[in-house]
Amino acid sequence: MSNRTFTMIKPDATSKGYTGAILDQIIKSGFSIKALKWTKLTPSQAGEFYAVHSERAFYGELVEYMCSGPIIAAILEKENAVSDFRKLIGATNPANAEEGTIRKKFATSIAENAVHGSDSDENATIEGDFFFSKLERF
Ligand code: ATP
Ligand code: MG
Repeated sequence: MSNRTFTMIKPDATSKGYTGAILDQIIKSGFSIKALKWTKLTPSQAGEFYAVHSERAFYGELVEYMCSGPIIAAILEKENAVSDFRKLIGATNPANAEEGTIRKKFATSIAENAVHGSDSDENATIEGDFFFSKLERF
Protein backbone atom coordinates (compact mmCIF):
# COMPACT_ATOMS: atom_id res chain seq x y z
CA MET A 1 0.00 0.00 0.00
CA SER A 2 1.32 3.42 -0.93
CA ASN A 3 1.44 6.22 1.63
CA ARG A 4 0.70 9.07 -0.77
CA THR A 5 -2.44 10.56 -2.25
CA PHE A 6 -3.26 13.51 -4.48
CA THR A 7 -5.77 16.29 -3.83
CA MET A 8 -7.14 19.44 -5.38
CA ILE A 9 -8.97 22.24 -3.60
CA LYS A 10 -11.55 23.02 -6.28
CA PRO A 11 -12.61 26.43 -7.66
CA ASP A 12 -15.76 26.79 -5.52
CA ALA A 13 -13.68 26.44 -2.33
CA THR A 14 -10.76 28.67 -3.40
CA SER A 15 -13.19 31.41 -4.54
CA LYS A 16 -15.03 31.35 -1.20
CA GLY A 17 -11.77 31.78 0.75
CA TYR A 18 -11.73 28.27 2.23
CA THR A 19 -8.20 27.37 1.04
CA GLY A 20 -6.48 28.05 4.37
CA ALA A 21 -9.12 26.32 6.49
CA ILE A 22 -9.10 23.22 4.26
CA LEU A 23 -5.29 22.96 4.24
CA ASP A 24 -5.33 23.42 8.02
CA GLN A 25 -7.81 20.56 8.47
CA ILE A 26 -5.75 18.33 6.14
CA ILE A 27 -2.53 19.00 8.08
CA LYS A 28 -4.20 18.64 11.50
CA SER A 29 -5.56 15.27 10.32
CA GLY A 30 -2.00 13.98 10.03
CA PHE A 31 -1.21 14.50 6.33
CA SER A 32 2.05 16.16 5.38
CA ILE A 33 2.43 18.16 2.20
CA LYS A 34 4.96 16.73 -0.26
CA ALA A 35 4.12 19.05 -3.19
CA LEU A 36 1.87 22.11 -3.49
CA LYS A 37 0.76 24.31 -6.38
CA TRP A 38 -1.67 27.22 -6.97
CA THR A 39 -2.75 27.03 -10.61
CA LYS A 40 -5.69 27.25 -13.02
CA LEU A 41 -6.64 24.40 -15.35
CA THR A 42 -7.27 24.87 -19.05
CA PRO A 43 -10.31 23.06 -20.52
CA SER A 44 -7.97 20.56 -22.15
CA GLN A 45 -6.15 19.83 -18.86
CA ALA A 46 -9.42 19.46 -16.91
CA GLY A 47 -10.84 17.25 -19.66
CA GLU A 48 -7.77 15.01 -19.53
CA PHE A 49 -7.73 14.86 -15.72
CA TYR A 50 -11.37 13.74 -15.59
CA ALA A 51 -11.29 11.69 -18.85
CA VAL A 52 -12.61 8.66 -16.94
CA HIS A 53 -15.95 10.53 -16.72
CA SER A 54 -16.07 11.58 -20.40
CA GLU A 55 -19.20 9.51 -21.12
CA ARG A 56 -21.10 10.87 -18.12
CA ALA A 57 -23.88 13.44 -18.57
CA PHE A 58 -22.13 15.84 -16.16
CA TYR A 59 -18.71 15.77 -17.93
CA GLY A 60 -19.13 19.11 -19.76
CA GLU A 61 -20.34 20.83 -16.61
CA LEU A 62 -17.49 19.25 -14.61
CA VAL A 63 -14.80 20.45 -17.04
CA GLU A 64 -16.27 23.95 -17.18
CA TYR A 65 -16.47 24.17 -13.38
CA MET A 66 -12.92 22.89 -12.85
CA CYS A 67 -11.63 25.69 -15.14
CA SER A 68 -13.78 28.41 -13.60
CA GLY A 69 -11.11 29.61 -11.18
CA PRO A 70 -7.80 28.75 -9.57
CA ILE A 71 -7.20 25.50 -7.71
CA ILE A 72 -4.67 24.14 -5.24
CA ALA A 73 -3.04 20.85 -6.24
CA ALA A 74 -1.11 18.84 -3.66
CA ILE A 75 0.57 15.52 -2.97
CA LEU A 76 -0.06 14.36 0.60
CA GLU A 77 1.68 11.73 2.71
CA LYS A 78 0.29 9.64 5.56
CA GLU A 79 0.00 5.96 6.34
CA ASN A 80 -3.04 4.66 4.42
CA ALA A 81 -3.20 7.99 2.58
CA VAL A 82 -5.76 7.18 -0.12
CA SER A 83 -8.45 5.67 2.06
CA ASP A 84 -7.86 7.95 5.06
CA PHE A 85 -8.11 11.00 2.83
CA ARG A 86 -11.36 9.77 1.22
CA LYS A 87 -12.74 9.43 4.78
CA LEU A 88 -11.58 12.94 5.65
CA ILE A 89 -13.28 14.52 2.61
CA GLY A 90 -16.58 12.60 2.88
CA ALA A 91 -19.12 11.52 0.26
CA THR A 92 -19.16 13.01 -3.26
CA ASN A 93 -22.53 14.60 -2.51
CA PRO A 94 -22.08 16.86 0.54
CA ALA A 95 -25.68 16.14 1.53
CA ASN A 96 -24.55 12.56 2.25
CA ALA A 97 -21.18 13.47 3.79
CA GLU A 98 -20.57 12.76 7.47
CA GLU A 99 -20.44 15.60 10.00
CA GLY A 100 -16.98 17.13 10.29
CA THR A 101 -15.80 16.03 6.85
CA ILE A 102 -14.35 18.62 4.51
CA ARG A 103 -17.19 18.29 2.01
CA LYS A 104 -19.83 18.55 4.76
CA LYS A 105 -18.22 21.76 6.00
CA PHE A 106 -17.13 23.43 2.77
CA ALA A 107 -18.89 21.95 -0.30
CA THR A 108 -21.87 23.52 -2.06
CA SER A 109 -23.34 20.65 -4.10
CA ILE A 110 -22.52 17.29 -5.71
CA ALA A 111 -20.96 19.21 -8.62
CA GLU A 112 -19.16 21.91 -6.60
CA ASN A 113 -17.82 19.72 -3.84
CA ALA A 114 -14.74 21.63 -2.62
CA VAL A 115 -12.05 18.95 -2.92
CA HIS A 116 -10.79 16.05 -4.98
CA GLY A 117 -9.18 12.94 -3.53
CA SER A 118 -7.57 10.08 -5.46
CA ASP A 119 -9.58 6.84 -5.41
CA SER A 120 -6.62 4.37 -5.61
CA ASP A 121 -2.85 4.20 -5.15
CA GLU A 122 -2.46 3.86 -8.92
CA ASN A 123 -4.53 6.99 -9.62
CA ALA A 124 -2.73 8.90 -6.85
CA THR A 125 0.54 8.34 -8.72
CA ILE A 126 -0.95 9.21 -12.13
CA GLU A 127 -2.61 12.37 -10.77
CA GLY A 128 0.48 13.52 -8.85
CA ASP A 129 2.58 13.05 -11.99
CA PHE A 130 0.02 15.06 -13.98
CA PHE A 131 0.75 18.18 -11.91
CA PHE A 132 4.26 17.84 -10.49
CA SER A 133 7.74 17.20 -11.81
CA LYS A 134 10.35 15.36 -9.72
CA LEU A 135 11.87 18.74 -8.80
CA GLU A 136 8.59 19.94 -7.27
CA ARG A 137 8.06 17.19 -4.69
CA PHE A 138 9.95 16.50 -1.47
P1 ATP B 1 -13.32 13.44 -7.06
O1 ATP B 1 -12.88 12.46 -8.15
O2 ATP B 1 -13.38 14.86 -7.53
O3 ATP B 1 -12.54 13.27 -5.79
P2 ATP B 1 -15.40 11.64 -6.30
O4 ATP B 1 -14.38 10.58 -6.50
O5 ATP B 1 -16.04 11.74 -4.95
O6 ATP B 1 -14.82 13.08 -6.64
P3 ATP B 1 -16.44 11.04 -8.90
O7 ATP B 1 -17.52 10.05 -9.11
O8 ATP B 1 -15.03 10.67 -9.25
O9 ATP B 1 -16.55 11.53 -7.38
O10 ATP B 1 -16.85 12.36 -9.69
C1 ATP B 1 -15.88 13.33 -10.04
C2 ATP B 1 -16.47 14.71 -9.85
O11 ATP B 1 -17.50 14.92 -10.80
C3 ATP B 1 -17.18 14.95 -8.50
O12 ATP B 1 -16.31 15.25 -7.45
C4 ATP B 1 -18.09 16.11 -8.84
O13 ATP B 1 -17.35 17.34 -8.88
C5 ATP B 1 -18.53 15.75 -10.26
N1 ATP B 1 -19.77 14.98 -10.23
C6 ATP B 1 -19.93 13.68 -9.85
N2 ATP B 1 -21.21 13.29 -9.95
C7 ATP B 1 -21.89 14.37 -10.42
C8 ATP B 1 -23.27 14.63 -10.74
N3 ATP B 1 -24.19 13.68 -10.62
N4 ATP B 1 -23.58 15.86 -11.21
C9 ATP B 1 -22.65 16.83 -11.35
N5 ATP B 1 -21.34 16.66 -11.06
C10 ATP B 1 -20.96 15.46 -10.59
MG1 MG C 1 -13.21 10.43 -8.26
